[in-house]
Amino acid sequence: MDRLQHVLDEIAEEAAAQDDRGLVAQYIPELAKVDPKQFGIAVALPDGRVLTAGNAATAFSIQSVSKVFTLSLALGKLGDSLWTRVGREPSGNPFNSIVQLEQEKGRPRNPFINAGAIAVADLILSGHEPREAIGEIVRFIRYLADDDAVRIDERVAASETAHGDRNASLAHFMRSFGTVTHPVDHVLGVYFHQCAIAMNCRQLARAGLFLACQGRNPLTSSQVVTAHRARRINAIMLMCGHYDGSGEFAYRVGLPGKSGVGGGILAIAPGTASIAVWSPGLDPVGNSKLGSTALEQLTKRMQWSVFGS
Ligand code: GLN
Repeated sequence: MDRLQHVLDEIAEEAAAQDDRGLVAQYIPELAKVDPKQFGIAVALPDGRVLTAGNAATAFSIQSVSKVFTLSLALGKLGDSLWTRVGREPSGNPFNSIVQLEQEKGRPRNPFINAGAIAVADLILSGHEPREAIGEIVRFIRYLADDDAVRIDERVAASETAHGDRNASLAHFMRSFGTVTHPVDHVLGVYFHQCAIAMNCRQLARAGLFLACQGRNPLTSSQVVTAHRARRINAIMLMCGHYDGSGEFAYRVGLPGKSGVGGGILAIAPGTASIAVWSPGLDPVGNSKLGSTALEQLTKRMQWSVFGS
């Protein structure tokens, strides 16, 4: 294990020396204020240990990484009937694109683009008031991370609500097809709050560990999803987790992963580790620039790619 700690330290050092860090997300003003010079990484192992380097204890906005958790939660509530609302094919389009929705009759390509995640939020909202649905999501993530300190950054939620026209368009458009069934402001309330969840790398790596362990969370000894379902969630992360950068991420890193515009990435080495990395600067597709490079180096040095060395 010394070797893994050594590799993480090296990667954090290399990240600290980088000048070209990409650009922090500008369209959510609260995210635009984040200092781009930060970098953190954490690796959670099936035996319960978590190894870290850099700013692994600094909380950041998990944004679209939350879509992995809401998909897992919604699959638990609805089972495979979820797939009548949302597809599971890569979109090849930016995360907030609307173009395919019209051609495909309001059914989003996958649960990780914004439209798909908004449709999943609508499903989680069934039988709930918006506040209850938000509470359910936060409780689920706290339980996965085995940490009650996970919280929502209300300033980020408010900032995104105030600048949420694009997501509102997606939601209204889907409502006209019946993919969204609740009032749009309720659905967006859930969606913006799930995106505004703040976690650090250590918490995020721990929360993803069930996906590396056949659906079982070794921290709490609970079966979160079946092994079969965990395998499928990993498959969707691999194909769709980085939007129109998913092919590049698979090519460079070779792990299922999910990014967010806060600069976080959760990556899963099945059977081996759950990895969270964070650096706020993004590449042009909206994925963490140094985060992707760090994961590429980690899988190369540890030989963790699912495709071999
Ligand atoms: N909350 C962001 C949005 O809806 C999430 C996008 C992302 O992380 N890629 O625009």
